[in-house]
Amino acid sequence: MGRPLVADIDLDALRHNYRLARDLAPSSQALAVIKADAYGHGAVACAHALNDLAPAFAVACIEEAESLRRGGIDKPIVLLEGIFSRDELPRVEELGLWLSVHSEWQVEALLAFRPRAPIPTWIKVDSGMHRLGFAPEHLPSVWHRLQDAPDRVSGLHLMSHFATADLLDDDYFQHQLARINELATSLDAPTCLANSPATLAWPRAHGAWNRPGVMLYGSNPLEGGNDASRKLKPVMTLRSEIIAIRDIEAGEPVGYGGRWKAPRRSRIGVVAAGYGDGYDRHAIDGTPVLVEGQRTCLVGKVSMDMLTVDLTDLPQAGIGSRVVLWGQDRDGEILSIDEVASYCDTISYTLLTGILPRVPRHYHGGVQADEA
Ligand SMILES: *Cc1c(COP(=O)(O)O)cnc(C)c1O
Repeated sequence: MGRPLVADIDLDALRHNYRLARDLAPSSQALAVIKADAYGHGAVACAHALNDLAPAFAVACIEEAESLRRGGIDKPIVLLEGIFSRDELPRVEELGLWLSVHSEWQVEALLAFRPRAPIPTWIKVDSGMHRLGFAPEHLPSVWHRLQDAPDRVSGLHLMSHFATADLLDDDYFQHQLARINELATSLDAPTCLANSPATLAWPRAHGAWNRPGVMLYGSNPLEGGNDASRKLKPVMTLRSEIIAIRDIEAGEPVGYGGRWKAPRRSRIGVVAAGYGDGYDRHAIDGTPVLVEGQRTCLVGKVSMDMLTVDLTDLPQAGIGSRVVLWGQDRDGEILSIDEVASYCDTISYTLLTGILPRVPRHYHGGVQADEA
């Protein structure tokens, strides 16, 4: 049996969320973003589960693409940040990857390289995120230089990333989109713009391709959410069990530093999960937890291997009771990772990518029988 902490990964929910991303944008293709080990869910398993649905995948670096190829994934894989050094180009070709270019040195390296077949390439414009990409005024010359090298590159697309697509009423998003549209029109360029929030909420940003990431894993990236985001299903359930129970008097502290003090006689449950597993130590008292499908909360600081919850109002809970730290309880009750993240002063992305290798992933579903 061993330690009860497990990350259950529901591959049917992953497929449901991917289909939602695809159906929200019927004239776009949806690139499944599975960087950072599919946001902590296991990239090879997730890619296999999406392989019949997704026409291509996206990762952050060649090492991630290599592990997908080793895992038997033969679909196109886009390197979202392109190469990090020019000596990666022969490997890009061998692995059949698609490139993005965001800097002049990458363009020069690509133009100096002699591939056997042209490499599909997306050109990144900095429309206002101010992280990667060519300035809009420099973009047309880069575009034309690559367009004039059809033996080196093919399938040029204009790519850009939004800084604020998660805000529902935002001028900066409009400003970025207007800049991109102007360029795309003048170059007659197909685009790839939309991340998860733009896929969910901004049809005007849907391009030839979209790049949904976190929504595939069931997290809502939108401020407040919308009808589409409410259809997302959680993919990861982080579950464990109560391993010990304490009855303490009013006024007694719990855990390191005695951060939480019992306001009344209290029954405290100890859960096998801690920051050594990736559960965020910033979680405050009151962070929601499901015990036997019922909401209760964290009390006291998270330790490396354990955390403590208030069971005072759950008299039926005991040693061995099931605990869900986020995701879906066996009985159907859902504790959203976005809600947990808000108690940790962070976002779902850091919680998901933070789950450490000590936590076994158990995969469920994903049989590719029915619909596509
Ligand atoms: C990670 C990433 C995405 C996916 O973003 P989500 O918010 O997870 O949907 C899209 N595009 C780029 C360039 C990225 O780096």
